[in-house]
Amino acid sequence: MANKPAPTDALDYAIPSTVPTHWYNLTADFPEPVAPHLNPETREPLKPEELYPLFSKALVEQEFSTERWIEIPQAVREVYANWRPSPLFRARRLERRLGTKAKIYYKYEGVSPAGSHKPNSAIAQAYFNAIEGTTKLTTETGAGQWGASLAMACAMFGLECEVFQVRSSYDSKPYRRMQMEAYGGTCHSSPTDITEAGRKIREEDPDTTGSLGMAISEAVEVAVHSENTHYSLGSVLNHVMLHQTVIGLEAIEQLKKAGEEQADVVFGCAGGGSNLAGLAFPFIGENLREGKTTRIVACEPSACPSMTEGEFRYDFGDVAGLTPLLKMYTLGHEFVPPSIHAGGLRFHGMSPMVSHAKHLGLLDSIAVGEHETFAAGLEFARAEGIIPAPESTHAVAGALNYVKSGQAKDGEVIVIGLSGNGVLDLPAYEKELELERQEKLDQ
Ligand SMILES: *Cc1c(COP(=O)(O)O)cnc(C)c1O
Repeated sequence: MANKPAPTDALDYAIPSTVPTHWYNLTADFPEPVAPHLNPETREPLKPEELYPLFSKALVEQEFSTERWIEIPQAVREVYANWRPSPLFRARRLERRLGTKAKIYYKYEGVSPAGSHKPNSAIAQAYFNAIEGTTKLTTETGAGQWGASLAMACAMFGLECEVFQVRSSYDSKPYRRMQMEAYGGTCHSSPTDITEAGRKIREEDPDTTGSLGMAISEAVEVAVHSENTHYSLGSVLNHVMLHQTVIGLEAIEQLKKAGEEQADVVFGCAGGGSNLAGLAFPFIGENLREGKTTRIVACEPSACPSMTEGEFRYDFGDVAGLTPLLKMYTLGHEFVPPSIHAGGLRFHGMSPMVSHAKHLGLLDSIAVGEHETFAAGLEFARAEGIIPAPESTHAVAGALNYVKSGQAKDGEVIVIGLSGNGVLDLPAYEKELELERQEKLDQ
């Protein structure tokens, strides 16, 4: 596969053995196969070659792979080792605060340099592109975490990075743009006037707040029309789910070390599905192969409840209908979600693998309201010190609800996927903080 000496060969130093050596592919263990992606024109199952204009060959191979274990290249493990294994903490102060006898753990991905789980895939994608001769990656970003993560990964592997950021987030979250630029990336407010897709959308609706679907259309268009340029997606696709499984693989080992036989219930937030899949798929694999009984709960925003209220059918990943058709839970590719603070959860669809797992009853989903999520985020911060990312507060709210409503049994092991920290997204908490200020005044 490596057809030229890479700028990416691993340095010669020992990587801790606790950094996973393989990614786990749930496709190998699904009781029924996942529906194939379809060519949008012919509606025939997509062939790997059809994705080559967009993605590196190695990533396309992973997209279609049914192998259970896929080796993590040494150069990728080496970067992972800068923050992996990420910590699994026991939330003792939160437990005390809640007065519960359940054991609450959280797997914390906010320790990565970008502050979330996203580099787990960004690093892998930049690496596989770099060794195949790609010189530039384009992508879209909602809240900006993916753009920042990819810009970082591109910087590490010597690639250019061009990011289309959803307009509402571009305007409300200047720090993410600065973070991308700090890593040497270029960031546009999408829809732009530099792509045909963007120009068309702006003609029809000049005041649009933008959406992930629109930004995807733009990034894909640029990748398809430029030399040595590939497109990169931060969630949804099978190869992204694959890369994220380091989260759950580590968590399983860490729980064992903590003396736990299994996790009883796992809460993760779900936008496109990648952090949830990363944490949950290794547990689901053990459920399927070893008869374990870990329950998975996907927590979605009630403003964009793809799995909880969407339909399971083929749909496009973008507004312009350029992407392959994906079998997934969807609110419809023309759905423009309200501009909520958890921008990373503003996607109309859901990863086909996560959707398939839900369809087969291997995971549940719930929708949580915005006030409830930020209240939970503050409660978590005051107990554990970490201010969760707006997206992660959905998982926290799901778990807190579970405990407070008396569903958690004594001794039960609860795992929260804390996908990132909220330090760069503090304005998202402002409405909730203002509510608290008012309450103090009213007392
Ligand atoms: C992007 C993001 C999400 C949502 O994306 P998924 O693919 O559903 O994981 C969740 N949490 C954080 C911190 C994010 O940055």
